[in-house]
Amino acid sequence: MKVLVLGAGQLARMMALASKPLNIDVRAYDVGSGLVVDPLSTSTTFGDLADGIAYADAITAEFEHINHDVLDVCEASGKLYPSSQAIKVGGDRRLEKALLEQSGVANANHKIVNNKTDFDDAISTLTLPLILKSALAGYDGKGQWRMTDIAQAEDIWSDIQSFIEGDVSGQQAIIAEQMVPFDREVSMVGVRSKNGETFAYPLTENHHSKGVLSVSLAVNEHQGLQAQASEAFDQIANALDYVGVLAIEFFQVGSSLLVNEIAPRVHNSGHWTQQGADTCQFENHVRAVCQKPLGSTTLVRPTAMINVLGVDTVPENILSIPSVSMHWYGKTQRPGRKMGHINVSGQDKTELLHRLALLADILPTKDFPDVADYINNLS
Ligand code: ATP
Ligand code: MG
Repeated sequence: MKVLVLGAGQLARMMALASKPLNIDVRAYDVGSGLVVDPLSTSTTFGDLADGIAYADAITAEFEHINHDVLDVCEASGKLYPSSQAIKVGGDRRLEKALLEQSGVANANHKIVNNKTDFDDAISTLTLPLILKSALAGYDGKGQWRMTDIAQAEDIWSDIQSFIEGDVSGQQAIIAEQMVPFDREVSMVGVRSKNGETFAYPLTENHHSKGVLSVSLAVNEHQGLQAQASEAFDQIANALDYVGVLAIEFFQVGSSLLVNEIAPRVHNSGHWTQQGADTCQFENHVRAVCQKPLGSTTLVRPTAMINVLGVDTVPENILSIPSVSMHWYGKTQRPGRKMGHINVSGQDKTELLHRLALLADILPTKDFPDVADYINNLS
């Protein structure tokens, strides 16, 4: 079978790598150049979008910020999974919040801000501190403002006003959200088939640094939370009649979960599944969109993932730590850019934590500024 992925980044690349053993050929549509490329060697090209659509048995996406015209032609081919609606919901926080409300899934108190009146209304009805997020095109903590004190209101509004007015689409808005005093951030990656079967991976604990995911930890020890998250997953995935892998980010407050946001795709917090689960998220996504039986999402060994951000080398002796595996994305280095990730596993949590401590000793603090602190605080 043949799959076209909209987007030619690391997620398409990892889908291609996971699909090869199944004899599924993955090509990627580079939204920048408008060309269909090999996801591994992006300099090899195969034509334009129409060629890619004609070639593919199934079309999917590796990110949600895709031009709606592109989504619409793909949908018209009858091959797009998940649907364009599901991808659009993931790319617009207004639609996302509306979906959460309609599905009765708990999330942070929020207001949509289109103008100064809405902004003032949000400040008076929500309780400070607030986080203000762009409705469109936000990722990795970009397009966000934080307001802890009412004295900041004027400066933040002037920033937001130029941000909204500077948007060429004229569609931009802001979501003002109450800051959630969370104990932890966790996420659930799960998969849904076309006939409505769902499988969820174990909840993953996520540690962010400067708004970007830094470490994910999957140990399978949160049974009560797992049940809550699976229920939210089913509600959201069923409401979207979703096909493929879907990720949900949560805030944990005490023993409750609030949804932060959803991602209609394979997700950075699911990269651990490559070494830690029966079937990795990339293979399961491709299986779902090709309408093949889904694979087991069982955790086979506790696993952690560490993002490599902004650097294109790491000390090679990390490879001498048992079960460490290195995944590079083949991208040109830029400050802060997601360049690769490291997965490490153990037969049990104790062994994993021991190996993580060995890793933390080797990884340079300048390139992994907060990783050692996070790892040393794990118990
Ligand atoms: P990414 O693409 O990395 O998922 P994003 O740009 O889509 O990020 P969010 O996930 O909404 O943005 O926010 C980034 C981070 O900011 C969250 O992981 C969390 O640490 C913090 N954050 C966001 N919303 C809230 C909130 N309401 N309360 C507290 N912290 C928040
Ligand atoms: Mg997020």
